[in-house]
Amino acid sequence: MLEMTGLGVRYGDVTAVSDVDLTIGDGEVVALLGPSGCGKSTLLRAVAGLERPSAGAVSWDGADLAGTPVHRRGFGLVFQDGQLFPHRDVAGNVAFGLRMLRVEREERAKRVTRLLELVGLAGYERRRVTELSGGEQQRVALARALAPEPRLLLLDEPLSALDRALREQLALDLARLLRETGTTALVVTHDHDEAFTLADRVAVMRTGRIRQVGPPSQVWREP
Ligand code: ADP
Ligand code: ADP
Repeated sequence: MLEMTGLGVRYGDVTAVSDVDLTIGDGEVVALLGPSGCGKSTLLRAVAGLERPSAGAVSWDGADLAGTPVHRRGFGLVFQDGQLFPHRDVAGNVAFGLRMLRVEREERAKRVTRLLELVGLAGYERRRVTELSGGEQQRVALARALAPEPRLLLLDEPLSALDRALREQLALDLARLLRETGTTALVVTHDHDEAFTLADRVAVMRTGRIRQVGPPSQVWREP
């Protein structure tokens, strides 16, 4: 279980995030919804360990993560773009984290095949990532983040580089994928439909604070 308590992040004089109390239960998918500049990415980065909180704490199962660097938190990260290794093929990208974990070759290949099936890219192992469409690249990025079986997946506008129709389709696919794999996730988005499609609970953010949290049916859709 991930817990943010009284979490705040400042950039100099700018308070980007303040007083955030938010818990994400095991297997739960929470969307962080709000307009551009409200502090969503900053909050996600603080959870990842990429920003240092100016107040409060982030903890996992009650243990404070303050001393735990990014790569030891056991979290998977997917950002908006520029994230694949262009000189590696699809399998090489998906297997990257597994190689770091010293998972053996045969097991790596098995997992890569299974993950590519999960994200709808069966048979893509040897394709060059630079020759894939935007949607296909997003799927590869997801497979890569899921490969080490992270205890928490952090997604920052994972679909925003795509056009509307593709985004709706991928949001449905992603919702299914997260449920099938029982993945715990925090998804940052400015898109209402995406948040409501993906999440068990939606946290609505405005100017650095969380204004409401609840299941999609209980959160008002603000314009
Ligand atoms: P969102 O993800 O909701 O668009 P951000 O978390 O990116 O919002 O930004 C929140 C606020 O913090 C904004 O006012 C933004 O300008 C500011 N900010 C974000 N990153 C930095 C940074 N590295 N240095 C200074 N200010 C920043
Ligand atoms: P650094 O000098 O690199 O910021 P720190 O020792 O301050 O190193 O922090 C180690 C890591 O833990 C950093 O990645 C930082 O972002 C994160 N961190 C620091 N304080 C907290 C906190 N209260 N809660 C969660 N993470 C934190």
